[in-house]
Amino acid sequence: MSRARLEPSSLSSPEALVIAADEVRAEVRAWILEHAIDGVIRRGAHPAYDHEATEVEEEWLGRCREGRWLCLSWPEEYGGRAFGPLQIAAVEEEFARAGLPRPRLGMGETLVAPALLAHGSDTQRSYFLPRILNGEIQLCQGFSEPDAGSDLAGLRTVGVIDGDEVIITGQKVWTSDAHRSNTIFTLCRTDPSAPRHRGISYVLVPMDHNGITVRPLRQMAGAHGFNHVFFDGARAPLSNVVGGLNNGWRVAQTTLGAERAGEATTQHIGYLQEWEMLLAASRRNGSNLDPVLRQGLASAYAAVRIMQFTGLRMFSTLTATGTLGPVASVNKLFWSEYHRDFGELAMHVLGTRSTLVDRSDDAVTELQRVFLESRARCIARGSSEIQRNIVAERVLGLPREQSTST
Ligand SMILES: Cc1cc2nc3c(=O)[nH]c(=O)nc-3n(C[C@H](O)[C@H](O)[C@H](O)COP(=O)(O)OP(=O)(O)OC[C@H]3O[C@@H](n4cnc5c(N)ncnc54)[C@H](O)[C@@H]3O)c2cc1C
Repeated sequence: MSRARLEPSSLSSPEALVIAADEVRAEVRAWILEHAIDGVIRRGAHPAYDHEATEVEEEWLGRCREGRWLCLSWPEEYGGRAFGPLQIAAVEEEFARAGLPRPRLGMGETLVAPALLAHGSDTQRSYFLPRILNGEIQLCQGFSEPDAGSDLAGLRTVGVIDGDEVIITGQKVWTSDAHRSNTIFTLCRTDPSAPRHRGISYVLVPMDHNGITVRPLRQMAGAHGFNHVFFDGARAPLSNVVGGLNNGWRVAQTTLGAERAGEATTQHIGYLQEWEMLLAASRRNGSNLDPVLRQGLASAYAAVRIMQFTGLRMFSTLTATGTLGPVASVNKLFWSEYHRDFGELAMHVLGTRSTLVDRSDDAVTELQRVFLESRARCIARGSSEIQRNIVAERVLGLPREQSTST
């Protein structure tokens, strides 16, 4: 879901939406019967930070691309299907029912495409979207800097206009997947004399042989998911500036909104899968008979269902008003803190086994990973404190914080 406004004419009646979802459910079921593949694993709510696609996953991605099961919300002219959230939820449920993952194309699909669709030119959409879809362009997000994370508008990376190019110098940090990407979408200050939120541009910058250095950062779980990125005179054509020069803050809000809204109507499916994994583990070791852990498992289940219905409520808001706006922060806050608490519960359920590395047990390995990695997600995409500020000020209308800038 993006924050882009929907035209009322594009909104169908609830009955029509349900019929459309049923039709697509039948289509995807038939397709899966014919094209399912052995050996591809459906993972939990979030893939590992350092996961590299296996050969069979690449094969599955190719089949899904051919079957047109990627980038479902994109307009058809760019290779999507113009599906709404209920249709996407139906597709997602059918993949889950078959025990198969529905592949995503990373930040190009989830974060840049919404910005291009809302603010890009026809030329930019026609160039970038098909290349994101076919895998030629792989994007990473260069927003955060050492002194500009929550306070993103304090960014110092500079973009100097030189003819028909912008030359970028500065440092980014926590750049997920920069080591696997060939293009970075970044924010740089192109008008230093403008107020903080103005004078910023949103630029897609090629990374190869372009004055960009990527240095790894390693997490406590051992994974290498993110990086430092140094720009030393990196060049991008002005035609890669999305939404116009000095208008990047507005464009970035679309990307941040998409990042926080996530896949609100479908995300519960992955969390439910993890919950079922934990329930099975607790039955195996008998901890399901412990009253405190039983209570924890029941609460976690209720939270996943609340997440599901909150997602549907967000969809209703979007359908009724054409925009999601700051409500996306409610979603981000809820799933990230749920997942952190679920990780802790999982360690209690596993008991002493949770402290041992045991590669022979996939459930233990996966739940340990959830415990270690889920904490970072309360910071990534805007920390919980920042989401609470947004909810307080922009959803509940409480008095504004003294110096907030997100
Ligand atoms: C796993 C992970 C992946 C990431 N991937 C990317 C990426 O791909 N690209 C990218 O650009 N960035 C990425 N980030 C960076 C992320 O967006 C920032 O870490 C986040 O915005 C917080 O910024 P910061 O780390 O500078 O912390 P700070 O902004 O320095 O905040 C420090 C602490 O102060 C609190 N705080 C700050 N301001 C306020 C306030 N006004 N009110 C109350 N509390 C406040 C914060 O909540 C936090 O607890 C990633 C981060 C993580 C953890």
